[in-house]
Amino acid sequence: MRKRMPIFAANWKMYKTFGETAKFIDEFKTNFKAFDKNKVEAVICPPYTSLFKAAEKLAGTCFSLGAQNMNFEKEGAFTGEIAPAMLLEFGVKYVIIGHSERRAYYNETDESVNKKLKFVLANDMVPILCVGETIEEREAGKTESKILGQLKADFAGIGEADAEKIVIAYEPIWAIGTGKNATSKDAVDVVNFIRKTMSEIYSKPLSEKVRVQYGGSVKPENIAEYMKDETIDGALIGGASLDPAKFIKICESVL
Ligand code: PEP
Repeated sequence: MRKRMPIFAANWKMYKTFGETAKFIDEFKTNFKAFDKNKVEAVICPPYTSLFKAAEKLAGTCFSLGAQNMNFEKEGAFTGEIAPAMLLEFGVKYVIIGHSERRAYYNETDESVNKKLKFVLANDMVPILCVGETIEEREAGKTESKILGQLKADFAGIGEADAEKIVIAYEPIWAIGTGKNATSKDAVDVVNFIRKTMSEIYSKPLSEKVRVQYGGSVKPENIAEYMKDETIDGALIGGASLDPAKFIKICESVL
């Protein structure tokens, strides 16, 4: 019996139109009849333009809706950005914060990540916080120091009661979208390091409650390796989550 509810989140990035979203969710719902919400949580994070359709199609099911980003202001002159009320209107429960693509291409820093985490929590949604190292950092033996720095900065000023709600996704940047997934041993080592760090920043009970996913080229063929070790609480999935059959197989790995 796992200590924490596993959570699999589909990060669709900039893929799938309104129509493709409807088709995916119809197929997903039909084929995933055995879903037991007491055993696994599945989240779909489509692009903003598909949130409305996804919300409509997911209504009354046990699947949750997520967003890929959110601004840290309530509203205003922020062209191209999305506000919490706009996500809440569709029943969004999870928001991915600090994905490495946003950190790399859209100047997201630990400071903005920290503000976003606080604002997502203040709006009663649950952040999925992404942390992880580059290949250069890994090869230089700096994986732990990178993650430690990110966790300290990203969680700054967040109280324990809020911190334990945050889902942390360990996503080695070199494994994202490359097909080169981390070995399960490497993933377990870093996830254990994340728990140790959370225990130092907060407390041992918090480090045992907080959910930590692995992300980086997860597919149906490799998910079981990660889920064998109960320190890993699921996955954040990009490419493989675009195919309903693959996403179902990944979610079913814990059933
Ligand atoms: C991601 O985008 O968070 C991700 C892990 O992508 P992929 O599964 O394609 O590596």
